[in-house]
Amino acid sequence: MDHPDFVVVGGGIAGASVGYELAGRGAVVLVEREPTAGYHTTGRSAAVFTESYERGPVRALTMAGRGFLEEPPDGFADQPLLTPLPVLYVARSDQQATLDDLAASTRGLVDLERVEGNGLTRHCPVLRTDRIVSGLLEPGAMEIDVHTLHQGFLRGIRRRGGEVVTGAPVDELAYANGTWEVSAGNRALRSPIVVDTAGAWCDEVAALAGAAPLGLTPMRRTAFTFGPGHHGIAGWPMVVDADEDFYFKPERTQLMGSLAEETPMPPHDVRPEEIDVALAIERINQATYLDIRHVRRTWAGLRTFAPGRLPVVGFDPVRPGFFWLCGQGGYGIMTSPAMARAAAGLLCDGALPADLVAAGVDAAAISPERFAD
Ligand SMILES: Cc1cc2nc3c(=O)[nH]c(=O)nc-3n(C[C@H](O)[C@H](O)[C@H](O)COP(=O)(O)OP(=O)(O)OC[C@H]3O[C@@H](n4cnc5c(N)ncnc54)[C@H](O)[C@@H]3O)c2cc1C
Repeated sequence: MDHPDFVVVGGGIAGASVGYELAGRGAVVLVEREPTAGYHTTGRSAAVFTESYERGPVRALTMAGRGFLEEPPDGFADQPLLTPLPVLYVARSDQQATLDDLAASTRGLVDLERVEGNGLTRHCPVLRTDRIVSGLLEPGAMEIDVHTLHQGFLRGIRRRGGEVVTGAPVDELAYANGTWEVSAGNRALRSPIVVDTAGAWCDEVAALAGAAPLGLTPMRRTAFTFGPGHHGIAGWPMVVDADEDFYFKPERTQLMGSLAEETPMPPHDVRPEEIDVALAIERINQATYLDIRHVRRTWAGLRTFAPGRLPVVGFDPVRPGFFWLCGQGGYGIMTSPAMARAAAGLLCDGALPADLVAAGVDAAAISPERFAD
């Protein structure tokens, strides 16, 4: 298929999910530079679905995608995409205002429960209550099976007649007479629409198309796994510092931790810094009795933000047929079902789906036009 209706550039969760939605509406070719789709940020996340973490249109997109994740279409996945993983925000006495702010911003929208004193150790027995004095629990938060979700989208593209091509870096984009000519590895494609889902590389792909950059900033975030020692971790929540200075969560028989840092850098195959792992261990050890001494595996990923930290979904205001779907920061997995439907609506119908508008998603707030002079 060399003349599809849509060429999607990038095979992470953004490209896979929008490719899935578009394949129901026309012919799609998704091109991914790496031999494996999901090699970059999508394969490196904490895999959490939480409605309390972000606000505004991002929270609306997260909530609007919950139904899909809870009950995906028949044949999409052979195992559940979500399993319960409550999130417990914890605070020292000097962090109470942050918790109060979170409680206020979620009131009437997300169920959060105050947790004090012994309640803290009932949820997570290793918390040091001489240091952590209160918490807010989101009982409805979930762990996402990211691999199954991502593969479900990619398989869906193929089942709907689309194509997923890996090892195909887009290195040229030329527009003439209503058609984009796309050079991707050994493929030459022609299409009226190019969808930029290249994650940290979205501005670079846009530059190939002659579009002005949005000023996207990829930010490194480091993660690692470690053993739980003699602690039984079944039923533990994800524990997040109120100021997001660290977090840890159970992952089957081990724990995953992070410094939750945001270090700006150019797009590349990012690696963890030892100092970030060490600092995270120090903070987790101060807040708990986990006494982490060894880590099993470390990695890092790039969370890419547009100025203002809202996603960018919409046609470029200047380059015809060039569509942005980027800037998903730290929420690209949990928002992917609704974000992909938002993008497909704007691409095919010129408007957001009515249910997303009713859910509070505002096309103008996420449009690339907001950056136009
Ligand atoms: C440590 C960490 C924890 C996170 N935790 C969560 C979480 O709990 N919940 C959540 O929802 N989100 C989380 N995120 C964020 C989430 O992972 C991202 O928002 C999401 O994966 C971004 O997906 P993407 O498809 O835009 O980018 P990517 O997965 O990076 O995909 C972009 C793809 O484009 C390809 N590409 C680039 N240039 C080209 C080109 N020229 N030609 C062809 N292909 C190209 C790349 O190879 C890449 O595969 C976390 C991220 C990190 C790093």
